[in-house]
Amino acid sequence: MTLAIIVHGGAKTISEDKVAANKAGCLAAVEAGWAVLTKGGTAAEAVEAAIRVLEADQTFNASLGATLNSEGEVELDAAIMEGATLGWGAVAAVQGVRHPISVARKIMDEKPRFLVARSAERFAAENGLEMCKKEDLIADEQWHEWKEEQEVLDRPNTVGCVALDANGILAAGTSTGGTTGQLAGRVGDSAVIGSGLYADGKLGACSTTGDGESIIPVVLAKTAIDFLNGDRHPDEAAQMAINTLKSKVKGEAGCILLDHQGRVGWAYNSQDMACGYMTTGQDKPAVFTKKEASTAPVLV
Ligand code: ASP
Repeated sequence: MTLAIIVHGGAKTISEDKVAANKAGCLAAVEAGWAVLTKGGTAAEAVEAAIRVLEADQTFNASLGATLNSEGEVELDAAIMEGATLGWGAVAAVQGVRHPISVARKIMDEKPRFLVARSAERFAAENGLEMCKKEDLIADEQWHEWKEEQEVLDRPNTVGCVALDANGILAAGTSTGGTTGQLAGRVGDSAVIGSGLYADGKLGACSTTGDGESIIPVVLAKTAIDFLNGDRHPDEAAQMAINTLKSKVKGEAGCILLDHQGRVGWAYNSQDMACGYMTTGQDKPAVFTKKEASTAPVLV
């Protein structure tokens, strides 16, 4: 029985001084998710565990350290989906919630399943999930950049995870602070099923990152999964999905993909993308900030 987990830390430009932090964050997330899988946990539990690690790490644009919107505030979107039941949960434009991915997972069994802003915050509080002051999620670096309106190239970016558990079930999750300086209330693709993430019962599961306004019209996560048809390798399917986006709508994006056999794929057209994975048969997790390096895994 094959277990597999892959995480991303966003399609972005990663400056030399942030390579180590990106790799360390991805490694810690893979390890957290892998620990869940090897103890017999479900794919959805592993995805939640891995994304919680990334949300707590200010290297990434999710929860703590998320990029700030037009009002200098952190506003978060997250979603999770499980392939066997097609169960899903999503929240958007939430504030003062430490782990939006956990709120998304909690809401999976509820109706309605997609809550925004105050309704999502109320749901989180009523269900005993970790709340904080909305200011507590603002990292110094993000605050200074916002205040000085610096043109910074290596901004943090969205996080995501896809996992395959011992029962052969796939799950995917994505969590983000959106785009830098985005209009308060703007919602991108990350919490949108089919675009920011998708998991199905047969082919595979995918989490995406990049320009939400370009990802949504090409339904990027579902498109990548559909390319798995005919037993295509996930690496090729991921690249075909990014090519589709480039040719149809332009924009920058990346995606991570697992198929039902636990084969790993990822592709992006940004300068870099932080990524890490572990599958049955590997002795250690592999982590990268660039695809070219993936033929010779960089182990930390
Ligand atoms: N996809 C996210 C959004 O548009 C941002 C990102 O992944 O960088 O909100």
